[in-house]
Amino acid sequence: MKILIVNAGSSSLKYQLIDMEDEQTIAKGLAERIGIEGSKLTQTANGKKFVAEAAMADHVEASKFMLRALTDKEVGPLKDMSEIGAVGHRVLHGGERFTASVIIDEEVMDAIAENIPLGPLHNPANLMGIKACKQVMPDTPMVAVFDTAFHQTMPPKAFIYGVPFEYYERLRVRRYGFHGTSHRYVSARAAEFLGRRYEDLRIITCHLGNGSSIAAIDHGKCVDTSMGLTPLEGVIMGTRSGVLDPAILQYIMNNDNIDIDQMLDILNKSSGLLGISGISSDMRDIDNAAAEGNKRAIITQEILYTGVKKYIGAYAAVMGGVDVIVFTAGIGENGPRLRLKVMEGLEFLGAKMDEQKNEVRGKEVDVSADDSAVRVLVIPTNEEIVIARDTLSLVTQH
Ligand code: AMP
Repeated sequence: MKILIVNAGSSSLKYQLIDMEDEQTIAKGLAERIGIEGSKLTQTANGKKFVAEAAMADHVEASKFMLRALTDKEVGPLKDMSEIGAVGHRVLHGGERFTASVIIDEEVMDAIAENIPLGPLHNPANLMGIKACKQVMPDTPMVAVFDTAFHQTMPPKAFIYGVPFEYYERLRVRRYGFHGTSHRYVSARAAEFLGRRYEDLRIITCHLGNGSSIAAIDHGKCVDTSMGLTPLEGVIMGTRSGVLDPAILQYIMNNDNIDIDQMLDILNKSSGLLGISGISSDMRDIDNAAAEGNKRAIITQEILYTGVKKYIGAYAAVMGGVDVIVFTAGIGENGPRLRLKVMEGLEFLGAKMDEQKNEVRGKEVDVSADDSAVRVLVIPTNEEIVIARDTLSLVTQH
């Protein structure tokens, strides 16, 4: 079966077509600037490119262009859209309702809409993507895969914040966690890679990319994660602040006479790597500047290294030890120095790196020393394959 994976943003629609016979990606595409002047769709399939620069007023029009590109006579990988067996949608926030992926029906769409207050930037866009695809492919089964679902096994001691309990009961304020599909994929893959049973391991997964989160997976269940009610909590990220003293908000707002929306904009868009370094939100730029001796770039690196190290220490404590530590996503997969610096000083946990093996980028490799009690792995993440597998499994069950 061929499965289409859709990740809809507020003005974009990213997609991948995967053939489940061999789990290979047949086509990848992106519609951007939807509803804005200059909308464009680009697709690559079998090394052939399809580009359409045309007005796309909304996600329905973008979806029509997507189908046109996929079935294009010259460069399209499909003869007919009926070859698409199912569509898997990435959805940011499933709240407490969704602990696993589900077939999308009216009720599920209503529930995604109910979670809009928890994911105000993403859930409306995800829903638009679902509605658009339903309109252009009304007979194709669709599945929703939630970024939050994997973390729903966390116990209350990990997800309740230190604020009056009524905020949890009344407003659903709690830790949800994100990047769940990635944490789930790399942790399961780690067990497979080591030839061990997933349920026998204590795993810490470090998803370090433009957005970063860390998770503790104890004997097959996520027990804690660094992102919270929103993806703003945790370690410093490309442009997000990560965890901070909440009283800082009032102090800055009063001093600079800005409102809460402006403040959150600063915490989401001008903080983290970008805000501290003043250089860039891209780790490569920070690394280059640090190599040239730029002091703020060096501090930025150190804050990130220490931040990740602290979570590893905390999660090892929560699980009573750790058997496997996984690095994934853009920075985790491609940052040999970051991995060394994060792991430096963690020898007391039984983790010892092999500097030579660690000189690797974007490949599945065990980068720990032979005599290390803790296995440290680099595992490139693959969220699309998780979405595709969940979609296949749900639509073939029905
Ligand atoms: P992601 O969100 O997973 O795409 O990750 C984006 C982050 O990964 C950015 O900060 C990039 O600078 C970083 N990244 C990607 N490729 C490399 C690389 N080859 N070396 C260092 N960092 C990289």
